[in-house]
Amino acid sequence: MIDDTICTSCNKIPELQGRIEAEGVRQSCSVCRQDQQKAIALEHLLEQIDKGFTNVYGHVDSNAFTEEEEGDDLEEALDSLTGWDSAVTKLIAETLCESEPGYNPSKDGEPFYSEAQNYVKLPDEYDSGNDELGASWDKFKLGIKHEARFFPESSINELREIFGNLENAHGSIRDVIIRSIGPGTDISAVFRAREIDINNKKSVIKLLKNPADKFGAPPPRRARANRLNPTGIRAFYGSLDPMTCLAELRLPIGSSAIVVSFNITRKLRLLDVAHLPTTVKRLSPFHPNYVRSHQFLSFIRQFSFEISSPILPKDTHLDYIATQAVAEYLAHHHSPAFDGILYNSSQEGDGINIVLFQHACAVESSGELKGSNYKFYDETDFDDDDRGGYHIGYMLSYKPGSDQEVYETDEDLKFLTDAPDSGKSPQNQALQYIEGSATVYNVERVVYSANSLPIKVVPIKNGA
Ligand SMILES: [Zn+2]
Repeated sequence: MIDDTICTSCNKIPELQGRIEAEGVRQSCSVCRQDQQKAIALEHLLEQIDKGFTNVYGHVDSNAFTEEEEGDDLEEALDSLTGWDSAVTKLIAETLCESEPGYNPSKDGEPFYSEAQNYVKLPDEYDSGNDELGASWDKFKLGIKHEARFFPESSINELREIFGNLENAHGSIRDVIIRSIGPGTDISAVFRAREIDINNKKSVIKLLKNPADKFGAPPPRRARANRLNPTGIRAFYGSLDPMTCLAELRLPIGSSAIVVSFNITRKLRLLDVAHLPTTVKRLSPFHPNYVRSHQFLSFIRQFSFEISSPILPKDTHLDYIATQAVAEYLAHHHSPAFDGILYNSSQEGDGINIVLFQHACAVESSGELKGSNYKFYDETDFDDDDRGGYHIGYMLSYKPGSDQEVYETDEDLKFLTDAPDSGKSPQNQALQYIEGSATVYNVERVVYSANSLPIKVVPIKNGA
């Protein structure tokens, strides 16, 4: 009954507890019959209970294919949602049926709360229950591709609307998505690979004489458009382990690459969309931020999927514009700003990639190896070390200016050749080459993973 009471010990939902503490008085509880605790009349809790319940449960769809009895009755559903004692569940179910709060009127015209109804969990609310932000994201993508480029105000506002939910999201979500990396954290180094021609010793030597420079982010005039940076704006793309680096290069069998690693020299603030599915704790459906937090999570999953999707040859630059704009928004318009993004590798199962934005992508210069007469040779056959390896030998006489490198310049990047290399200024530095980390990887085998689905040939009836 609506004027029945419940006390603080009989209620098990933390989100309702505050209300009983604040508004209840010491009186007899209809459930446990004690009067030593604060208790409140059920009518004051019904709205919150109704919201929480309808966040998760709906009627069994009467148009469903099966005729079988599906779902749970009200008491069973309440029980699995709340963990209340059965006496409480029974009382609340009765009260809901009796008073039909109807804050979320049912679509099928039946009373929402009824002993005759069965209830099923709504489709995973991460994925499809709340697509309000998904719609904003779709609108944003269309707008920036085909309406106005260079960050129109409306696009910034749409991203603000979407990412504004991040700073306000529930702590359990925020703590997973906003990730601090660098010294003293569990991510203190990153890896980067470059394909090499192991037989072209000159080119290998050129890379290894100055790995801090050659494996860092390309200078602005050579920065090609990618998922998270437009042409001419540099960014560092790496991975958290060497195998993921290799996989991202998508090298054929028989080819080789050098992988190096960099220490992260200062604390960086990253958007982490790589750890969403397993580590996010579900919010209680009774929490006031439930809907907004889960909408945001739903959006961030979509975004995570989009930036992790493999880049296919048919993709055009247009396909990157939305994600590039998000990167720019996160780096320059969001407050507090982000330094980069962690995201899943599409190439390597559990692999995680990292992009560092322009203001955190530069590698401290460690200077070019001086000397001359370099030789790159394989020591596998006669080294004392069991593993063998490659050596670089060189003479310590140095002729200044003899090794000036000339960048080959792509036609469409010519307009950028005069750009000052501001990306290298000290405040943009966040990486330091780890001496001796360069390692040659020769690709011996590539593992494919695919799912297989059968094809059934079935006739389709008219109107089916
Ligand atoms: Zn009680």
